Amino acid sequence: MDINASKQTILIVDDMPINIQVLARCLKSDYHIKIATDGEKVIEICMSENPPDLILLDIMMPGMDGYEVCDALKKNIKTQNIPIIFVTAKGEIEDETKGLELGAVDYITKPFHMPVVKARINTHIDLKRKSDILELMLAMDSLTEIPNRRHFDTVLVSEWNRAKRSGSPVSIIILDIDYFKNFNDNYGHPAGDECLKLVAQTLKKCVKRSGEVVARYGGEEFAVILPGVNHSDVLGLAETLRYNIESLNIMHSYSDIANCITISLGAATASPDNGLEPAELINTADKMLYEAKSQGRNQIKGKLL
Ligand code: GH3
Ligand code: MG
Ligand code: MG
Repeated sequence: MDINASKQTILIVDDMPINIQVLARCLKSDYHIKIATDGEKVIEICMSENPPDLILLDIMMPGMDGYEVCDALKKNIKTQNIPIIFVTAKGEIEDETKGLELGAVDYITKPFHMPVVKARINTHIDLKRKSDILELMLAMDSLTEIPNRRHFDTVLVSEWNRAKRSGSPVSIIILDIDYFKNFNDNYGHPAGDECLKLVAQTLKKCVKRSGEVVARYGGEEFAVILPGVNHSDVLGLAETLRYNIESLNIMHSYSDIANCITISLGAATASPDNGLEPAELINTADKMLYEAKSQGRNQIKGKLL
């Protein structure tokens, strides 16, 4: 999904290339077109980094048929939101019922009338764009434009489950701006907001490996998920975060420990296969953050569980 893309992508699936051509010719001026002639290829494209925004799916194909493709896509959390329209010669009411019950948004029988097909496609593409925007908004913190706590919680659970299967560790860092109340009280709430934005964007630049997420966890608290990283490397990244925020040199004359904005960090690493739960990882990182605060702030405390 790319809500900024000027053209949405439609995947046309048919084992007969001539059928693909008919649809592609009429749609290519309005949409970016991808094609596939078998079910396996459809799954591969949908699981890729650039999945389509809509699929026009034939039913009768050798190998995996359209129903099986639809069923597989709807059962996978990564692909279940891609709308599917069946385009098929199978015109019996039972065929249509089966397609719609499998989760397709529409069912068009051949021979079709192209303006009707186009109108139906436009409707579903429009709905898809709106649902993509809503999904992004649900996961984003509007002030700092980084993921919010809801998204953090979702990713932590999925990384935790993945790590359970692979036996690799999961780490989190929770960090909090030092003496931020004094900053707000003295420089004003709008300046506080600007500071939060800058801190968030700086953290985001430091946390960019695939699978890693930095989120706004609460008011002036942020949290990072680091899958598959050993504890000493987590402490290394925490130091990079601490250093980069200090280096922003955001003036804070009302901090008791420095003359600029600083952060305190708590880190925790655990292997999910030793029976722990994500909540214990969070609690530990929280306790470490509390220690970092009580031992003087602008520092890191960590624990390997
Ligand atoms: P400590 O070093 O112990 O963390 O002290 P602190 O002053 O940073 O902590 P405290 O929890 O007392 O204060 C947090 C402040 O963060 C209070 C609140 O006004 C501010 N804050 C929370 N969310 C926002 C926000 O969205 N915008 C602004 N400007 N300030 C916020
Ligand atoms: Mg604070
Ligand atoms: Mg706080």
